[in-house]
Amino acid sequence: MTILGIESSCDDTGAAVLRGGPGTATVLSSVVVGQNELHAPFGGVVPEIAARAHAEKLDGCVIEALDQAGVSLAEIDAIAVTAGPGLIGGVLSGVMCAKGIAVATGKPLIGVNHLAGHALTPRLTDGVTFPYLMLLVSGGHCQFLLVRGPEDFTRLGSTIDDAPGEAFDKTARLLALPQPGGPSVEAEARNGDPKRFPFPRPLLDRPGCDLSFSGLKTALLRQRDAVMLGDALYAKDRADLCAGFQAAVVDVLREKTRRALELYLAEAPAVPTLAVAGGVAANTAIRGALTDLCAGLGVAFTAPPLKLCTDNGAMIAYAGLERFAAGEADDMTLAARPRWPLDKRAPAALGSGK
Ligand code: ATP
Ligand code: FE
Repeated sequence: MTILGIESSCDDTGAAVLRGGPGTATVLSSVVVGQNELHAPFGGVVPEIAARAHAEKLDGCVIEALDQAGVSLAEIDAIAVTAGPGLIGGVLSGVMCAKGIAVATGKPLIGVNHLAGHALTPRLTDGVTFPYLMLLVSGGHCQFLLVRGPEDFTRLGSTIDDAPGEAFDKTARLLALPQPGGPSVEAEARNGDPKRFPFPRPLLDRPGCDLSFSGLKTALLRQRDAVMLGDALYAKDRADLCAGFQAAVVDVLREKTRRALELYLAEAPAVPTLAVAGGVAANTAIRGALTDLCAGLGVAFTAPPLKLCTDNGAMIAYAGLERFAAGEADDMTLAARPRWPLDKRAPAALGSGK
């Protein structure tokens, strides 16, 4: 089957065409138009500006995706669209665009949960089989999901405050490093001493898989102020602060992932697999730590290519493909939802395992 996917829940407008079936689909095209320069003057995404930009770019993105794929609307079997969660104006723009195409062509419409798109991406890129463990680490999210089926997600733990990407970005801001913060902090950390400044390892003293990152930012601020001379910071101090911060993030993610894997492995999966997604998964130190952890436990480790880890239409087309293959579709009553929890929260007994 051939699916058109549309994404517009945050600050990337995406459209893509996929062909295939569950676990065996090929991306024929994926067009993403970002909005960074529109939001940059405001220091964050402005919802009204994002909604307007999506409304302006969606048609062009869809046409471009169809052109690149060499597929006409008549050859599309269904239209999948992010119906939430996200900034409501952007989600509405995408849903309206998809409904328009569905009405005009008479093709089925499929609403997709944006997080399901992220969580199912390893099936698109690597044909990973259920059940697998997913660690979503991005600028807005940090959670462990046990994925048992295309619509069967159990959250084993998540951040109780900031997402790690957000913590990297704030760290960069506090140290006058360029945004996005992740790559700049990682580059600085390479030349730093991770042991010089003491950073906490938040929530490691408590059972379970929940995480916390906001305390690291406070620790960083305190230690930066202690070594700053007026407005100046020595390069060596900056590098050591970055190294200390990153080492703490790595330790926390490694230990919480170990606990989540323990819960997951209790299900005796046929092909034990940890998949990571989200921009923070690009971090070499984090990747290295998780790769070693998995190797020690006999678990396969996979990380989709970065352009499919960040927001895009292909992951939405793929999640739609899984729903469509299961005989599901929506109708014109499909609503845009700002909030849409993906999962059932794990029962206390499961989530609190050490
Ligand atoms: P979401 O998709 O959850 O709404 P988002 O769109 O902000 O959030 P992504 O695009 O997946 O998230 O990832 C961007 C984040 O990844 C930024 O916070 C950025 O700093 C971080 N990041 C990118 N590269 C690295 C790196 N090498 N190390 C650490 N963090 C990184
Ligand atoms: Fe996203």
